[in-house]
Amino acid sequence: MFFCWLNRLYRGLSSPTGRTTQLIWGSLSRSLVLSSRRRIPEFSSFVARTNTCGELRSSHLGQEVTLCGWIQYRRQNTFLVLRDFHGLIQLVIPQDEKMPTGEIEIKVKTAELLNSCKKLPFEIKDFVKKTEALRLQYRYLDLRSFQMQYNLRLRSQMVMKMREYLCNLHGFVDIETPTLFKKTPGGAKEFVVPSREPGKFYSLPQSPQQFKQLLMVGGLDRYFQVARCYRDEGSRPDRQPEFTQIDIEMSFVDQTGIQSLIEGLLQYSWPRDKDPVVVPFPSMTFAEALATYGTDKPDTRFGMKIVDISDVFRNTEVRFLQDVLSKPKGTVKAIRIPEGAKYLKRKDIESIRKVAADHFNQEVLPVFLKASRHWNSPVAEFILEKQSLELIRLMELQEEDVILLTAGEHRKACSLLGKLRLECADLLEARGVVLRDPALFSFLWVVDFPLFLPKEENPGELESAHHPFTAPHPSDIQLLYTEPEKVRSQHYDLVLNGSEIGGGSIRIHDAELQRYILATLLKEDVKLLSHLLQALDYGAPPHGGIALGLDRLICLVTGAPSIRDVIAFPKSFRGYDLMSNAPDSIPPEELKPYHIQVSWPVDSEAEKSSLDHPHHPES
Ligand code: ASP
Repeated sequence: MFFCWLNRLYRGLSSPTGRTTQLIWGSLSRSLVLSSRRRIPEFSSFVARTNTCGELRSSHLGQEVTLCGWIQYRRQNTFLVLRDFHGLIQLVIPQDEKMPTGEIEIKVKTAELLNSCKKLPFEIKDFVKKTEALRLQYRYLDLRSFQMQYNLRLRSQMVMKMREYLCNLHGFVDIETPTLFKKTPGGAKEFVVPSREPGKFYSLPQSPQQFKQLLMVGGLDRYFQVARCYRDEGSRPDRQPEFTQIDIEMSFVDQTGIQSLIEGLLQYSWPRDKDPVVVPFPSMTFAEALATYGTDKPDTRFGMKIVDISDVFRNTEVRFLQDVLSKPKGTVKAIRIPEGAKYLKRKDIESIRKVAADHFNQEVLPVFLKASRHWNSPVAEFILEKQSLELIRLMELQEEDVILLTAGEHRKACSLLGKLRLECADLLEARGVVLRDPALFSFLWVVDFPLFLPKEENPGELESAHHPFTAPHPSDIQLLYTEPEKVRSQHYDLVLNGSEIGGGSIRIHDAELQRYILATLLKEDVKLLSHLLQALDYGAPPHGGIALGLDRLICLVTGAPSIRDVIAFPKSFRGYDLMSNAPDSIPPEELKPYHIQVSWPVDSEAEKSSLDHPHHPES
């Protein structure tokens, strides 16, 4: 026998709370006695129930009742029919979602079954936990969730508004460019597509960069495209091998023109239910971003900025600081973690030091400022009174703060502290401190990038910081021929809450300059780009543009945990389509027309399941 109680008699599916649901299920095997407002003496005196199952009518509406009986039927874990000696009564188990339509019910006249549905691999309820691998395998079912519906519909609405803004308000032309193209020198690795001509391949473009510049030469003046781009960059969190850009190019424009256009575009397309976008966005040079936040994409929602404290330690007795400061480019830097002494545990500090050692091969010293205003640190005894006061002043330290201190060459020390700044923010937030308001959208332009960076694998050579078509800063042109590594560029990035959501530049429209940069400075094969160089020679207008990463932007706007949650059919972390099993093998005879022979067949099935399923980091 089952006992069951109800707090309320519902009119149809009214709006019950989730808590009640649990209580009902929790009480099925136990007797529960609740106070009642009303009793029917003959049948319900001295017992747990207030009413029998057979006696309730609409005249009881609104009353709290306790019923006891046997479960006669159970439907979809939502409806129970309870039976006792007196009759049957239907119970509705309240669901977690509150239905705005809960006030009404439809009385069915006729019903027709349009299709049947097999047992689902997971329930279509947002709160039911499922692995990401399973969601991707049955993506067409996962798309039925309210969250995915919301994300994709919001994406569609924002793109619609962007089209409206660009085409209808500002005269842009929406132009599709090819996806079968040829290899572009420099930049990301491209996917290769075999052709029927022996040894000849197409490449999938990493962006429509060349085409959009050629459209400017072609006099289109203002181009945009919701463009699919392809980059074979292996598995990286929050990257997809194919992704979408809002790609834009304009003739006769400068950097401020592009920035204003983008600010207006985001303002216009921003969802109405979010706080409006405030323009103009603040701007910061690359050098400032690196020195203050240790990255070219600073999250400006919170402080913990990097402070150069080299001068405090000029005469230090701390050996490792002494060593670094004696070198020409040696610096000492620190970040302040507010109330770190209260929130950071010993194991946190250990993991912070490990990150520094593993990723940067660099030492980090934690220094705690105790309530007694004494230091707690392995180097505490070497910090002189004067240094201590200067440190407190420079870093605006309060009791219970922790500083993380490192020493080394400027860029390396800043990059390390930039990473630790984010790690510490995560740690503090895990302990309940709110540093980054989830409702806040903090946009930032990062400008004045260097035109070139030393190549990672061969620092003696240069590579483009953005791409080889980016124009140098007008005041630095002469340096191109003397100290190219010092040239600043007309490249700008748009950052939102610490993620790069867009980047662009004013382009080189002079064929000679473009040839010089490609051939002499970047050592690229100019033959690969002869079509573009030729086009520039035919009176190319000055032009510039930008591309916004649509997936990342929508991910931030919706607050989705991953960009895969704003793409209808994304690839897995490792680049597989877990629904269709792409990429897949092709029989040798079908490869023949492409003059391709697979020399090293792998068991893709085994590889796929070991890579994607059990240990998937985001599963
Ligand atoms: N094509 C560039 C990119 O994909 C953007 C641009 O310079 O417009 O990053």
